[in-house]
Amino acid sequence: MSDNKKYYDWIANWVSNQKSIWGLCKQGATEMQKQFPELIVVPGWVSTIAGDRDHWWCETVDSEILDPTASQFKEMQIGIFGYRKFQPGDEVRVGKCMNCGEEIWLPVQSLTERPEFPPEVSDCCCSSDCEYELMLIEGGDGTCPIAIDNEQDLLEYEEKLLIDEEALLHD
Ligand SMILES: [Zn+2]
Repeated sequence: MSDNKKYYDWIANWVSNQKSIWGLCKQGATEMQKQFPELIVVPGWVSTIAGDRDHWWCETVDSEILDPTASQFKEMQIGIFGYRKFQPGDEVRVGKCMNCGEEIWLPVQSLTERPEFPPEVSDCCCSSDCEYELMLIEGGDGTCPIAIDNEQDLLEYEEKLLIDEEALLHD
């Protein structure tokens, strides 16, 4: 364990050189790995009393966790209970729905490739309902050229659009 003193010293020094380490988990882990090439940068989640948070840290080859930004969770008084590594196929947060603001989570095989969105939605919405609402708000006609690429979906969409227009006329 005393072998790892250099790592803890590096972390203490790095932290003291940042204005705030909030949100710097990936940067901290990457910079640490640059300094100590024997370490591995690990993406995943930490469990805290405020729920799971996505997070990056470093590990030694013996899977000892070296987390340059662990103290950010102490500062917020949400201690870390556990670390869980990303595994291919895990759901990750890929963005926010432009219509309802919900976080969008999708299973991905790799964190470096763009995830596959379900065929009925574009990458700006969480669901086809939100997609549809957003297109109306945006002044469109409710169809989204990105999202709809098969004829059956398009027909259903147009049907839905007609129903909505009728509802509007009768209001
Ligand atoms: Zn949504």
